[in-house]
Amino acid sequence: MQKASSPLPSQTDPDTSTGEWPAKDANSFSRKTDTQSSRVIFGTTLFVVFVCVALLAMNAWLVVRARTAENEQIARANTNLARAVSQQIESTVALAEHIISGIVFELERGDITPETLQRLQPVLVNHAAEVQAIKGLFIYDEQGRWLVHSEASPAGTKNNSDREYFIHHRNNPSARTLISGPIVSRSSGEWVIPVSRRINDPEGNFAGVVLVTLSVKHLLSILDRFQIGEQGAIALFNANQLLVRRPFREADMSRRNAGSALQQQFQASRSGTIEGRSTIDGVTRIISFEHLLDYPLFVTVAVGKSEALQEWKSASIYQTSWVVLLCLIVAVSGRYLIRSMRRRLVAELNLRSARDALTEANERLEHLAQEDGLTGLANRRYFDARLAINFQQALESQTPLAVVMVDVDEFKKYNDLYGHLGGDDCLQRIAQALRTAVLRSTDLVARYGGEEMVLLLPGTDADGALEVAQRARLAVVDLQIPHAAAVLGTVSISLGAAAWVPQPGSTPFELLKAADEALYRAKQGGRNTVRVHAAALE
Ligand code: GH3
Ligand code: MG
Ligand code: MG
Repeated sequence: MQKASSPLPSQTDPDTSTGEWPAKDANSFSRKTDTQSSRVIFGTTLFVVFVCVALLAMNAWLVVRARTAENEQIARANTNLARAVSQQIESTVALAEHIISGIVFELERGDITPETLQRLQPVLVNHAAEVQAIKGLFIYDEQGRWLVHSEASPAGTKNNSDREYFIHHRNNPSARTLISGPIVSRSSGEWVIPVSRRINDPEGNFAGVVLVTLSVKHLLSILDRFQIGEQGAIALFNANQLLVRRPFREADMSRRNAGSALQQQFQASRSGTIEGRSTIDGVTRIISFEHLLDYPLFVTVAVGKSEALQEWKSASIYQTSWVVLLCLIVAVSGRYLIRSMRRRLVAELNLRSARDALTEANERLEHLAQEDGLTGLANRRYFDARLAINFQQALESQTPLAVVMVDVDEFKKYNDLYGHLGGDDCLQRIAQALRTAVLRSTDLVARYGGEEMVLLLPGTDADGALEVAQRARLAVVDLQIPHAAAVLGTVSISLGAAAWVPQPGSTPFELLKAADEALYRAKQGGRNTVRVHAAALE
């Protein structure tokens, strides 16, 4: 059985093209939920990520800034230390040079006689005893033989002509003081740094060498006074080689300045701070260097990089840990927030959907209560309600209202001939035909009862009602439903119309009764015909 389209006006009319109530898209709700919640989640996630990234970026910035400040602080402290050490060394070397100059002056004043040497001997012993930095003082003749010295042991046949400084002075007329690389003293067996000068005879020929040996041990005791940490190192170099270094290692004492990148940087300027890996022990250090003002020597003060930055590193790790913890807290609470937001959103949408479904169900029920099950037309209950409303409206606006009663001709016989189901089918087709006869949206076709139907036409006078009724009659004739017992041979209907402008005190029932009377006359008039009530025509 095909369901006819609904005639019932309602805010939630079914889809008139199919007669079906619009099916709700089952996925639209979940899609809506997903879109909204993912938007919320995206926004909140973005916020959480932003906060975390901002915290981490700020931390990174603080860590880098602290590192820069720490580096500057280390460089400053190192530079000051290098300056202090270089001044100490400078004064020590200056003292040694001063003593040498005094002795050379004495020796060059006249011939080097045994008396002169004898006179100088206690002077040498006195200087060696009084100046801690000085290990020994020596005067050699032009052959390198020991003439006078500050040592307790006798000179005997000792000869120093093989020493580097001796060869240098013999071959070089310069009167400048020479500071040579460290050697092991022949007299004491200790490491010493030779500071020496050439002696000239009155003709300017080479007459020997005056030598002061600086005690490496004493220099180390000076270097040991400064705090430079476990990995720190302080060293003194001349242009060619290492003179002394703390920490002391025997093996380093013969080390030459091998022209390494570090050494080149040391030679490039008077002072500065650089970072580099030591060729001596492989430790990476922050190194400040300072050249002595008056001598071709320079001092380096180095602190172990990892050691110097240890405090910064610990503070940074501590700070970063807190920031990461903070980020975790933000992330976890963000996640919790997102979840609860999503839950609330889903609950809200569930509630809304449930409400919509309920409203929809109510409307459907209401609609079903107003619809005739067989024909899909409005039922009697709905017709009565609409008649009352339209009557009242017509009364107020003083406009006409028409009612057309419809009755199928010889329908009892039709049932007898074609069966009750055939009759039902026939009624459905007639209902459909009647629907096509009414044109206005305010018109209503209803099943009045049995095989009787009714048209309610607001704003329609008797002429209009007659026209609609005729159209309906012809529409049914056009159906050409065979009816063997009918005069025409096909199914037809009879119609009785009544229409007027309601007057105060009148009732809808009067209008209905008039239409019914007209219908009666239509039946009497031979069926398949339309009659209009006389009162309506007036
Ligand atoms: P008339 O031309 O004078 O109207 O003759 P009639 O046979 O139509 O007379 P009447 O109006 O008295 O007959 C109504 C019949 O319509 C009675 C019943 O058998 C039939 N009928 C009423 N309602 C239904 C229905 O829902 N389905 C079917 N199949 N028949 C119905
Ligand atoms: Mg009847
Ligand atoms: Mg009938």
